[in-house]
Amino acid sequence: MALANVLCVLYDDPVDGYPPANARDEIPKIARYHDGQTTPTPEAIDFKPGELLGSVSGELGLRRFLEASGHRLTVTSDKDGPGSEFEQELPTAEIVISQPFWPAYLTAERIAKAPELKLVVTAGIGSDHTDLQAAIERNITVAEVTYCNSISVAEHVVMMILALVRNYIPSYQWVVDGGWNIADCAARSYDLEGMQVGSVGAGRIGAGVLRRLAPFEVGLHYTDRHRLPAEVEQQLGLTYHPDAASMVGVCDVVTINAPLHPETEGLFDAELIGTMKRGSYLVNTARGKICDPNAVAQACASGQLAGYAGDVWFPQPAPKDHPWRTMPHHGMTPHVSGTSLSAQARYAAGVREILECWFADRPIRDEYLIVDAGKLAGVGAHSYSAGNATGGSDEAARFSRS
Ligand code: NDP
Repeated sequence: MALANVLCVLYDDPVDGYPPANARDEIPKIARYHDGQTTPTPEAIDFKPGELLGSVSGELGLRRFLEASGHRLTVTSDKDGPGSEFEQELPTAEIVISQPFWPAYLTAERIAKAPELKLVVTAGIGSDHTDLQAAIERNITVAEVTYCNSISVAEHVVMMILALVRNYIPSYQWVVDGGWNIADCAARSYDLEGMQVGSVGAGRIGAGVLRRLAPFEVGLHYTDRHRLPAEVEQQLGLTYHPDAASMVGVCDVVTINAPLHPETEGLFDAELIGTMKRGSYLVNTARGKICDPNAVAQACASGQLAGYAGDVWFPQPAPKDHPWRTMPHHGMTPHVSGTSLSAQARYAAGVREILECWFADRPIRDEYLIVDAGKLAGVGAHSYSAGNATGGSDEAARFSRS
């Protein structure tokens, strides 16, 4: 077996250092997802589920496994700009691993600087930070850990919808600030009950959101490239719409759960947002580039949107002057919904499974493949379209930690 240089980009440790203990002693064991697919099945893991694995010191729990076989592992958070450690290491890297939360953008230019690169692994879901067209042309395999954090995100979406509609975040702030300003809290607070909620995309996350929202006694709508089975539509009381344009006008809340690919890039622009009901809520935990940042900020300022929440930006990390940091009525967080400690345990195990298969020359699960043998493959062939969604990612170098 040839020895490999593995280059892994992870987010920084907490500002106060790597935690000496976790808030909880254990996490639930999940063996299968909703559709029956098994959670990752590596031969072994070298971490305790529930540990912080996604930051630099966590190393996705990979070091012992890789070094025991003689491979070289480099872990860095320094990913943007030509002087970054990532670009310094790229020329000799055979395998690149990164998480969408802190993506190592693999543009065509960077792929050209990586002649040894054969495998790109997304520790999570969403490989749009890799120029898939360039990967196809260079015969690089791209894999992700499908389903590993879909429910983590679905839970986050439900939380964000409730937070916006009920005006939770400003109400919390009144308490922190020592106030008791009930009218200020109530003046923008509604019940979700009876509202019309629509999902763009009804895959693992979108359908997870719809299932979770059904007990709230709301009207449920969705649009997707492939229609769900009639019995699922009936069971959840779903109304299908052929596209986002025909759905958003009947909704009070819209949640975006489709991948970023050329078909969805910039989908929520001023024109589409302008067709929504005045005072709609928009929640986007899919990818920042699906929404036009200025159109969203203007709609929040004008009242066309009563609120916008999500955790995805473009680029990532978001520049300090990104309009979503300061626009009114937002509930933004950094990109965190899919990196709960519960999710990390699954995707770290999934990366380990993919690497075990790669080194042993065994096939990687079809459900993990995005690009293989010079074409979209597996899940990638179903949910992505060929092309490039990395344009403008060099803007991430403008973020400064200070
Ligand atoms: P799935 O592939 O299970 O679902 C995506 C769904 O979107 C599919 O049903 C797909 O259709 C549909 N879709 C694709 N294009 C369109 C379109 N133009 N209009 C409407 N629907 C469309 O993926 P997941 O649900 O697991 O994840 C979805 C996305 O969420 C990921 O690609 C990623 O970008 C993001 N994500 C965010 C995370 C976070 O931490 N914030 C974590 C994990 C994922 P079909 O397959 O039927 O063609």
